[in-house]
Amino acid sequence: MKYQLAIIGGGPAGYTAAEAAGKAGLSVVLFEKQNLGGVCLNEGCIPTKTLLYSAKTYDGARHASKYAVNVAEASFDLPKIIARKQKVVRKLVLGVKGKLTTHGVNIVSGEAVIVDNHHVQCGEETYECDNLLLCTGSETFIPPIPGVDRVPYWTHRDALDNKELPDSLVVIGGGVIGMEFASFFNSLGVQVTVVEMLDEILGGMDKELSALLRAEYAKRGIRFLMGTKVTALSEAPSAEGLPQVQVSYEDAQGAGFVVAHKLLMSVGRRPVTKGFGLENLNLEKTERG
Ligand SMILES: Cc1cc2nc3c(=O)[nH]c(=O)nc-3n(C[C@H](O)[C@H](O)[C@H](O)COP(=O)(O)OP(=O)(O)OC[C@H]3O[C@@H](n4cnc5c(N)ncnc54)[C@H](O)[C@@H]3O)c2cc1C
Repeated sequence: MKYQLAIIGGGPAGYTAAEAAGKAGLSVVLFEKQNLGGVCLNEGCIPTKTLLYSAKTYDGARHASKYAVNVAEASFDLPKIIARKQKVVRKLVLGVKGKLTTHGVNIVSGEAVIVDNHHVQCGEETYECDNLLLCTGSETFIPPIPGVDRVPYWTHRDALDNKELPDSLVVIGGGVIGMEFASFFNSLGVQVTVVEMLDEILGGMDKELSALLRAEYAKRGIRFLMGTKVTALSEAPSAEGLPQVQVSYEDAQGAGFVVAHKLLMSVGRRPVTKGFGLENLNLEKTERG
C-alpha cells in the first residue's frame, strides 16, 4: 500500500505528527523499533516524574511535623515505587496507541530503513510513501573518559529500573537529567555527589535560579564539585563487600578523586542519525552562517 505520510520514530515528535496527520485525513504509517512513546514516555520525562513524585511524597511525610501533621514513621518501598512508575508508563503508552488507532494510523513495530525518498523497508516489507518524516530522536552520549570501558556505570535507564539503593552515588553531569536523579536518590537517603564541568548546574538555564536550586540541594546534603573535569574512571577497593568506582578529576585547585558504590553517566544526549539509511536520501550538509 502507498501512504501519504511515513514516519520513522514513535516518540513525541513522531506520534504527535502521526496523530495530527491521521486526524486530518492522511493515510499514515508509523514505524517504531522499541516502544511507542519513545524516550519521553518510556524512559524520560514520564518515568522520572513519577519517581520524583514518590520521593516528594516521602520528603513531605518525613517533614510533616513542620506543618503540624503527624506521620508516625515515614518509609518507602523502592520496588513498589518502580512498579508504580511502570504502571503509569504502560497506561500512557496504551493511551497513545489508542489515539493513533482511532485516527487510522498504521503502527508498524520494527526497525525502519530508508530505501529512497519514497520507500521505507521494515522487516520483509517495503512501504511506499509520498512524504517521509524522520523523528528518530536521540540517545545517551557516553564520553570517552579514560577507563570508561573498564568500570560499571548506570545510564538513566538503569537508574530508572534499579530496585536496590546504593549507599553512595556519583553523578557525572549536573544537567536536568543528572539533577533529577541526584534529587531522587538524595531524597531516599543515598549520599550523592554531582561532578559538573561548568560553573553552574542545569547548563543553559537561568543562572540565578540554578544557583538557588543548587544551594537548596546542597542544604539537603548533595555534594557538588563544580568547574570540575572528570579525567579518569577506575575500580576502587570494595567497601562492605560491594564494588566501588573511583572518579578522578581536575578542578581549579588541582587533581582529586571521589569514590562511590554507583556511577551515573549523565553528560547529555546526541541525535540518532546513523543506521537507518539516512545516506540514501542524498542530503546535502550545509554549514550554518
Ligand atoms: C531521563 C530523561 C528525562 C527527560 N525529561 C524530560 C522532561 O521532563 N521534559 C521534556 O520536555 N523532555 C524531557 N526529556 C527529553 C525527552 O524525552 C525528549 O525531548 C523527547 O523524547 C524527544 O522526542 P522525539 O520524538 O524527538 O524522540 P524520542 O523520544 O527519542 O523518540 C524517537 C523514537 O524513534 C525510534 N526510532 C529511532 N530509529 C528508528 C528506526 N530506524 N526505526 C524505527 N524506530 C526508530 C526510537 O526507538 C524512539 O522511540 C527527558 C529525557 C530523558 C532521557
